[in-house]
Amino acid sequence: MKQILALVAALVVALPMSISARITVVTSTSDLAYFAKMIGGDFISVESIASPKADLHYVEMRPSYMVKVRDADAVFKVGLELDMWMDRIVDGSRNNHVKVFDCARYITPMEVPTFKADASYGDLHRFGNPHYWISPASVEPITRVILEGLSLVDPARSSFYAGNRDAFLATLDKELPAIKTEAAPLEGVEIITYHNSWPYFAEYFGIKLPGFIEKYPGVGPSPSHMRDIIDLIKQDHIKVIAMEPYFEKRVPEKIAEMTGATVVTLYPSIGGRNEGESYIDWLRGNVKALLAGIK
Ligand SMILES: [Zn+2]
Repeated sequence: MKQILALVAALVVALPMSISARITVVTSTSDLAYFAKMIGGDFISVESIASPKADLHYVEMRPSYMVKVRDADAVFKVGLELDMWMDRIVDGSRNNHVKVFDCARYITPMEVPTFKADASYGDLHRFGNPHYWISPASVEPITRVILEGLSLVDPARSSFYAGNRDAFLATLDKELPAIKTEAAPLEGVEIITYHNSWPYFAEYFGIKLPGFIEKYPGVGPSPSHMRDIIDLIKQDHIKVIAMEPYFEKRVPEKIAEMTGATVVTLYPSIGGRNEGESYIDWLRGNVKALLAGIK
């Protein structure tokens, strides 16, 4: 009992200091939270707003989100208009000292529109495709922003953060070749996806994306578009229809039924398939799902 009391007393003395020294970080997505934790380690506390299973284009506002940001030192967002809701949360939090960092800063966006599209084309990807974090090639530029952000709000630990980032990137460099080898059968393979979430991932693994169940990002399938997709699947002998976890299965399953293709669920965010999964587990999970689908 005495020992326990001594321990409690020690904690009471030690905790306030260690807590006050920690940087409070809020990210819009689980992916950015994961990267921030890899870099910040125990010197930051990280919370993310959106569920890893959520459609990140549409996250509803809740007062509890603003409470999370109220005392934050740094906020990291995906940018390219994906998570504009994060800006509204920051505004609503009335936190005057928080710094907001856009993780798209060093990304070269794919599919930047070359014409001014009207609303019938959907307005979700107006500044290029924002789903860049799904490619391993984006980890370096994303974590560069996170390192810069943490170093700005906590300059005393900038070399600690830089060392953690180097170590994390080195681990990925070691593990990624094995995943690329496992994914080799996917090279040149055509898949249909529900939303246009996967071009960065597809480029990394050499996968082709000839069509989407949505006619345009955020614009659901019309009967004529569904017929076009069915024709495309039959003509190109496409085996896989991939969908994000937040869409209704009805349409993909109907198309699969009519074409013999297989519907697989891919998870755009870390922690979507299994809570607490590592970056490599998450990536491998998506590769394995596709490999099972093309068998
Ligand atoms: Zn999108």
